[in-house]
Amino acid sequence: NSAEPSREQEDYHTIIKDTEKTNSTKHEFQAETRMLLDIVARSLYSDKEVFIRELISNASDALEKFRYLTISGDEEAAKLKDADRPLEIHISTDKHTRTLTVQDTGIGMTKDDLVSNLGVIAKSGSKAFIEEIKSKQASGDNNIIGQFGVGFYSAFMVADKVDVYSRAVGEERGYKWSSDGCGTYEIQPAEGVQYGTKIVLHLKTDCREFADEDTIKNVINKYSNFVGSPLYLNGKKA
Ligand code: ADP
Ligand code: MG
Repeated sequence: NSAEPSREQEDYHTIIKDTEKTNSTKHEFQAETRMLLDIVARSLYSDKEVFIRELISNASDALEKFRYLTISGDEEAAKLKDADRPLEIHISTDKHTRTLTVQDTGIGMTKDDLVSNLGVIAKSGSKAFIEEIKSKQASGDNNIIGQFGVGFYSAFMVADKVDVYSRAVGEERGYKWSSDGCGTYEIQPAEGVQYGTKIVLHLKTDCREFADEDTIKNVINKYSNFVGSPLYLNGKKA
């Protein structure tokens, strides 16, 4: 049936469900993202800890972008800067809820940003990854995850649900993006969201080690040299 859009033609902006009651909208991941998430989530890749480096690097990028806004004369950014808001990355672990949280006071994401940055593969590494998968049909080869680095999506190696709370500079309100990595994600307005981004990983049962402070401390120590902003783990300077 020619009237039916192919997978490739699907627009990632397509809202597949609109829940009026909670103001929440349900979206389908772009086809390539879905493919990538499927592989990442089922991966037996042994170096799962790399997701921490990816999340810290994104937080660091977001802080850099905020700094750039302030020096380029953005009024809203200047107001926030004047409010003497520290530019920091905070990581926290919670064994009881089996969660790991990475929070930054960076540039944040608008509702549209959440759709276009987290619903679509933009990162060159992820694009190359998908090309490799397609060419080799090597979905069983776990090493390629490490080879290419899959950015934000690497969170789904260790988490079966990821919540992203974000509020962009100058925005009156924040939003919550949430997904189990299985094809769809939801976005809804959220109260009390700080400027910047907070990512909450609900860890898979067999990845509970990442809710342990010492484990995270060791991983951070491997990468922290490359972080340009102050990094805290459970409130202590890391
Ligand atoms: P990359 O960092 O290479 O662009 P990622 O998959 O790591 O790819 O992230 C995708 C995009 O999501 C980023 O380019 C950025 O726009 C957005 N993003 C991810 N994490 C954050 C964050 N903490 N703050 C603001 N934007 C973010
Ligand atoms: Mg990144």
